[in-house]
Amino acid sequence: MKNLAVLGSTGSIGVSTLEIVAAQPDRYRVVTMTAGRNLERFEEQIRRFRPALVAVVEADAARRLKTALGPEAPEILAGVEGLIACAVHPDVRMIVSAIVGAAGLIPTMAGIEAGKDVALANKETLVTAGPLVMEAVARKGVRLYPVDSEHSAIFQSLEGHRKEDVRRLILTASGGPFRGRSLAELKHVAPADALAHPNWQMGRKISIDSATMMNKGLEVIEARWLFDLPPEQIAVHIHPQSIVHSMVEYVDGAVIAQLGIPDMKTPIAYALSYPERLSLELPQLDLCALGTLTFEKPDTERFSCLSLAYQALERGGTAPAVLNAANEIAVDAFLKGEIGFLEIPGVLRATLDTHQSAPLRHIDEVLRADRWGRAAARRFIETTT
Ligand code: NAD
Ligand code: MG
Repeated sequence: MKNLAVLGSTGSIGVSTLEIVAAQPDRYRVVTMTAGRNLERFEEQIRRFRPALVAVVEADAARRLKTALGPEAPEILAGVEGLIACAVHPDVRMIVSAIVGAAGLIPTMAGIEAGKDVALANKETLVTAGPLVMEAVARKGVRLYPVDSEHSAIFQSLEGHRKEDVRRLILTASGGPFRGRSLAELKHVAPADALAHPNWQMGRKISIDSATMMNKGLEVIEARWLFDLPPEQIAVHIHPQSIVHSMVEYVDGAVIAQLGIPDMKTPIAYALSYPERLSLELPQLDLCALGTLTFEKPDTERFSCLSLAYQALERGGTAPAVLNAANEIAVDAFLKGEIGFLEIPGVLRATLDTHQSAPLRHIDEVLRADRWGRAAARRFIETTT
């Protein structure tokens, strides 16, 4: 029996994780769970999975949840302290890190420091604090399994091979809902258009990130730390069918890829069950019915967020955390109708350009860079709108 902490249980990844757990009651038990705002869903999940401890972001929500659950209520905590308590609970063996945004960093780090293995969906943890996180993973001797489908594909394509033999990693990207649209067309897209991803059902923030291609930028940074390879060895190919989830090219020219239908249950299950595979009730991949898989170069002129991520990596230190913070603010402003779609990269570039990157030695420096990036991005939005 593997005991889990599901951080962000009400989100897209959280719900898929709980579906896998529900189908494998002899293998997994949910010991702790956390949620942000979706209290109704959280209440249902608590009744169903009966965790020992849960946490929500706001104290008021904790009180309402306690009243709603009555005698069935587990221990309920609030705030960052509550999220941390769920990550470090003594009965937990693995945390599923599925909070969205930089808010996932502190509880995930706390779990690592407490010796828990991690199934990592929250890419922002590695984007903002990659070197510190990987240092803690090594020092504590815990395992970090990627849930992001591209990184899971690379992880699988590296199995049984020598790292010295890797020439490059090739991350695939669907191109999002606006692949092929002109700059003039992109100017007027609405949040609802951007939220409609062609292949994947995801949370709001990552859906917008997919439309701007910032998601791929964040994934390049995630891959840089997870697989300890320099940015020059990490390439991106657009692959609209989202069947080849990513590839590893070796020095002898061999390319190993992992394929599958686009469903996050496959990478989530692999992170939970590694090195075994769980039997999942998913439709089979039918390559003959698909017929054609296509690949093209990303257009970094129309989708400049991808280049900004490489630039942030080059600057190093606090720059990726600042870029990530600015992106969270810009995406939120776009969703609220405060800025247009094409202004998102503008806010990111302006924030990154005014940032003096400093070395990352401690998690506090990440948090400071995160606050700086948010404030700077907000100022740019206010002065340009
Ligand atoms: P989501 O928005 O659907 O869910 C996010 C979860 O985090 C919810 O439970 C929400 O209540 C909680 N949350 C939000 N803000 C919080 C805060 N400030 N503090 C604590 N909890 C908070 O997001 P998602 O699509 O499930 O994505 C989760 C993470 O997984 C993201 O980092 C995303 O990049 C990554 N990811 C998602 C997918 C996908 O298919 N959805 C694929 C790859 C990676
Ligand atoms: Mg991904």
